[in-house]
Amino acid sequence: MGSMPEPTRSGYRQLDIAIIGSGLGGLSAALALRRAGHNVTLYERYDFAGEVGASLSVASNGSRWLLKWGLDVKAVKPVILRNLIMHEWETGAVKKEYGLGDYKARFGSEYYNFHRIDMHQVLLRTVQQAKGIGSPCRVLTKRKALGVNAKTGTIKFENGVTVTHDAIIAADGIRSQTRHSIGIEPKVEPSTSCCYRCIISADKLRELDLSEFITNDAIEFWGGFGIDKIVLSGCHNNEVVSCYCFYPAAHNGLDKDGWNIGATPDELCDTFPNLDPRVRKLFKNADDIKMWRLYIHEEYPYWVKNRVALLGDAAHPMLPDQSQGFCMAIEDAAVLGELFKEGNFDGDVEQTLRYYEEIRKPRATRVQYASAKARTNLDERIGWSTGLERPGKLTIEEICEYDLAGHVSSVVGSGVKQLSD
Ligand SMILES: Cc1cc2nc3c(=O)[nH]c(=O)nc-3n(C[C@H](O)[C@H](O)[C@H](O)COP(=O)(O)OP(=O)(O)OC[C@H]3O[C@@H](n4cnc5c(N)ncnc54)[C@H](O)[C@@H]3O)c2cc1C
Repeated sequence: MGSMPEPTRSGYRQLDIAIIGSGLGGLSAALALRRAGHNVTLYERYDFAGEVGASLSVASNGSRWLLKWGLDVKAVKPVILRNLIMHEWETGAVKKEYGLGDYKARFGSEYYNFHRIDMHQVLLRTVQQAKGIGSPCRVLTKRKALGVNAKTGTIKFENGVTVTHDAIIAADGIRSQTRHSIGIEPKVEPSTSCCYRCIISADKLRELDLSEFITNDAIEFWGGFGIDKIVLSGCHNNEVVSCYCFYPAAHNGLDKDGWNIGATPDELCDTFPNLDPRVRKLFKNADDIKMWRLYIHEEYPYWVKNRVALLGDAAHPMLPDQSQGFCMAIEDAAVLGELFKEGNFDGDVEQTLRYYEEIRKPRATRVQYASAKARTNLDERIGWSTGLERPGKLTIEEICEYDLAGHVSSVVGSGVKQLSD
């Protein structure tokens, strides 16, 4: 993984950067840019009711940056993943097991599983605390952005206030308003899949005599060849078990929309009548059952306009089947941090954001397509790679061995084509 020599460029100056949206992507960008020496303000439409509860796996391409940024990973109550396990749909018998081996020795950092809310809380605290490199970020809530002027760097909010910054990072999620405001109209198709998510405590699983699901340090799958798929994993120091349960959208009507629609244990169980009875028993006793409507977004024509750059789900929303959405947002954030740091940043904001698009768009788009492929074919998922390689398939090495800093150095060193306005 030999990195290119770091270019040293003069002209660095401290910027005043706005981030719209304080989800997992926006907070990661805040941390990276703070550490690069800039003043960062996050504008969030909500009062932090936004993050929802289920597991979040973070492969080494994401975890190495969380560690590098000094995030207190222990405080996020991690589970370290060691195995991928494939079960027989009806009986639950183990069909296939893929040990991740000494993943850390191979890829430099662990493959973690977190609870999304733990991650959001720790990131939010970290960006604002005095401890750590750079100045604490400001987080302003109840600031719903209505639109931006990309040339001037101005944001207009619902409350009538406008602010102007040197650069604007739009991390306002899959339904990004900022994306629309810079002229992008997404081509979107509803997926033929929907997803229930639910959680259950380890204590409850013990009471139900289902403790075999608690301590496997694994992501466990049922189905996955076709639309139906159950993905089970432990998080929150193995005190919580989380399930994602994919099913045909037609089952309960394509008219239901959103990511937070409540459902009952019976509705969840009835969706999977022939499933392993142990998992159905878990479902009957699960908490916080919600439905997630899934969408397929085509690649956007561009991500950057003048002083505005899209990041995370605003730039590359993807189906969850490679577990890479947050990891790609971390990579976006890491590239911004590398580009805007002293030695790489020469003071030209618009040019630097063009570098960002050139570096990030091809890789994130490839993962976006690979996620759509994996929706109904578990063999397409990275991690099941061994023995299944074929030309064009996304591999665990391609994702986990990626030399991001070397990639940034090579682009900054060689210059980038000018994109049209
Ligand atoms: C079922 C499922 C499972 C997943 N599992 C994994 C996994 O295991 N691993 C992984 O890496 N990824 C996973 N992901 C993907 C990952 O969760 C997302 O990619 C990631 O959370 C996106 O973060 P974001 O900050 O870009 O967007 P969001 O989390 O959507 O954040 C957007 C923020 O912007 C705010 N906002 C929106 N509009 C405005 C506005 N106008 N003004 C101000 N603020 C605004 C919102 O309130 C929100 O706080 C999963 C996704 C799904 C659907």
